[in-house]
Amino acid sequence: MIPALMPNYNRADLAFERGEGAWVWTTDGRRFLDFGSGIATSSIGHGHPHLVKAIAEQAAKVMHVSNLYRVPQAEQLAARHVAASFADSVLFCNSGAEANEGMVKAVRKYHAENGHPERYRLICFEGAFHGRTLAMIAATGNAKYLEGFGPPVDGFDHVPFGNMNAVRDAIGPQTAGVLIEPIQGEGGVRPADLRFLKDLRAVCDEFGLLLALDEVQTGMGRSGKLWAHEWAGIEPDIMSAAKGIGGGFPLGAVLAKEHVAKHLKPGTHGHTYGGNPLAAAAGNAVLDVVLAPGFLDKVDRVARHLWRGFVALAQKHPLVVEEARGAGLLIGLKLRPEVNNGEMQSACVAEGLLTVAAGMNVLRVAPPLIITEAEADQALDMLDRACLRLTPSQAKAAAK
Ligand SMILES: *Cc1c(COP(=O)(O)O)cnc(C)c1O
Repeated sequence: MIPALMPNYNRADLAFERGEGAWVWTTDGRRFLDFGSGIATSSIGHGHPHLVKAIAEQAAKVMHVSNLYRVPQAEQLAARHVAASFADSVLFCNSGAEANEGMVKAVRKYHAENGHPERYRLICFEGAFHGRTLAMIAATGNAKYLEGFGPPVDGFDHVPFGNMNAVRDAIGPQTAGVLIEPIQGEGGVRPADLRFLKDLRAVCDEFGLLLALDEVQTGMGRSGKLWAHEWAGIEPDIMSAAKGIGGGFPLGAVLAKEHVAKHLKPGTHGHTYGGNPLAAAAGNAVLDVVLAPGFLDKVDRVARHLWRGFVALAQKHPLVVEEARGAGLLIGLKLRPEVNNGEMQSACVAEGLLTVAAGMNVLRVAPPLIITEAEADQALDMLDRACLRLTPSQAKAAAK
């Protein structure tokens, strides 16, 4: 018989009842070091007192009023995001896919309002992930996600990730913009070359296209800067965010420059929940932590420490690990073809470490931004033992 909870996930047989910082405890009392952060979402760890307090206090005052009225908490959150980024204006929603939908609508609207409704197509990249709505599975382009769901939504052209010639070849009279993750997350933790991001900015300027960044996974400090595109020294026209910005509370956002944002007039787009007082209180509390002086420097420091460990780990286990890649606290261990990333993930669980599988046989490591160097070292020890578990026995003997 079908479970009451629809079986659309492949869930590990672990149920957590509480968390503190980077640690979570199962209902049967086992403790795990959470280096997945619920898929890069619990950005400031579990049970962060400041976030807990902000949510509890706001819940007691008023949770929801709808966007028929002013929401001071959302106005404040938007103003703070504007002050801290390239953006002039921010729209709130509830998830990454929703943020991307809003972003794509804004890009199309921009061209329509500028007299070019025929410019609606976005250039996307092979290996991308933009979410699970009907339009976003088309933007993702992965045949596996599209299968069985009818004709893909029109308007997304895919080219190889990092290939500038292919981008130029794909530009036509209907092209509206380019949609890219600065680091492909689900697709296998593949960072775009910073040069490539700069070139995309230039080609968008050359052809009057909008550069739309999906920073749902890479944003909110995960790369060691607030937004990953800052490493490339470029600014997008528009950007989506979610995952880390609510610290575990569902919150998405579209951040845009004025020339794009100004076309989303009343009636063009909206959400019932988007940026309600409770969600905005959570977003403000996360920002308080992430924008506190020195916080991102500390993320960068602990990330560099962790990276040294990952490079050493890859060298020590060449039969298991092909390479470590990513940026900041979004790290992918690309495994040898003989080793399956699901098995590796299970080996990590056996050692007490939570990680997330990603495409291209990659094990994804995305700890909360608040981890200490000692916790990074503990995770590296667990990974080391997990690698040993997966090393063929003859090789294990030789490596001892
Ligand atoms: C997770 C993710 C999404 C989808 O976010 P949801 O909240 O699951 O809708 C979109 N883009 C990227 C890059 C993501 O990592």
